[in-house]
Amino acid sequence: MKNSKSMTLVMNEFIPVNEPCFAGNEKKYLSECIDSGWISSEGPFVKKFESTYAKYLNVEYGLAVSSGTAAIETALYALGVKKGDEVIMPSFTIISCAIACLRLGAKPVLVDIEPDTWTMDVSQVEGKITDKTKVVMPVHMYGHAVDMDQLFILKEKYGFLILEDAAEVHGAEYYSKYKGNKWLKCGAMGDIAATSFYANKIISTGEGGMVLTDNKYYADRAATYRNLCFSPERRFLHTDIGYNFRMTNMQAAVGLAQLEQIEEFINRKRHIATLYKKEISALQGIHFMQVKSWAKSVFWMYCVILEKETDIDANKMMTRLKQHNVDTRPFFCGLHEQPALSRQGLFLNESYPHTSHASKYGFYLPSSITLTNEQILRITDALKKGLN
Ligand SMILES: *Cc1c(COP(=O)(O)O)cnc(C)c1O
Repeated sequence: MKNSKSMTLVMNEFIPVNEPCFAGNEKKYLSECIDSGWISSEGPFVKKFESTYAKYLNVEYGLAVSSGTAAIETALYALGVKKGDEVIMPSFTIISCAIACLRLGAKPVLVDIEPDTWTMDVSQVEGKITDKTKVVMPVHMYGHAVDMDQLFILKEKYGFLILEDAAEVHGAEYYSKYKGNKWLKCGAMGDIAATSFYANKIISTGEGGMVLTDNKYYADRAATYRNLCFSPERRFLHTDIGYNFRMTNMQAAVGLAQLEQIEEFINRKRHIATLYKKEISALQGIHFMQVKSWAKSVFWMYCVILEKETDIDANKMMTRLKQHNVDTRPFFCGLHEQPALSRQGLFLNESYPHTSHASKYGFYLPSSITLTNEQILRITDALKKGLN
């Protein structure tokens, strides 16, 4: 009796879409902050976290900031983006990418995505280049890299700068023929990169982000911008308008402890993806995320997309899964369909069909690294029932 009761509990337990995993030195390092009194951005964990993450990506400079959104804006500032400039990005991304441009007076310009990996369709970039194009912003998506080589070729021809949004791809890799036939880490391929350590990212600081670059000039500009543009010569004298985008020592302490476990986290993410894929490939009308031969995905989130013919859209399926106590999240809404941006006169009458399709039919399944095999089977079983 007792056994069967606990069994039912397990059967019906709520499975959240994501849960962080603190299995390492998180508590120890946090206690060090409190015991030492170092809690602000001046504390020693910040520099340590910055240099360790930069080294992990094989990049020279890492500048920790308060969020991924702040990292994108800081990176654009570092590259010198200003009023009148244009920044090309996919429509299928978080609004942070567009907002960062708008705050600097620049204009976001959109392209569509690839229908199978939901990453930027780089073949559309050249058609959007004007003499105002300053930056192209590839957004690596759900653990999978953008096809960067075509961008490298265009960069040579047109001279724009590349800012990678690497928030969803800690540790993911891309095989670049252009850069000498080798695997490169996402976040280490452009002129500068921005990443996020929000609670649901592969490694987390709760809230947080980082700007990454090999270029000292950009690194210095980023450091200035995140710290109110204090003049180096005279404290409390300011030569430009910056922000307080600093990361605390406590956040960096958690980040460093998380980073020590990144390989285990990624291995587990990949293992779970294999299990999900096996179960989902047996189902009709729904597809698991694809991986290109030139990408090593870290499967940040376990994404699926429904076939239009099923007549079930993501909303409907997500409601059905909720009835089985399985939590999910919808895909992004395209930037061209955001009321806040249309109101500014942006992207009116523009259409990005793959983005619109993905945002209607795609969603992601529970994606914690703490998921058990039994939970995965329960989730895919609920999916199967939802399809009928
Ligand atoms: C999470 C995320 C961000 C923003 O990060 P925050 O830390 O939440 O501000 C930016 N870009 C992408 C692609 C993201 O997934």
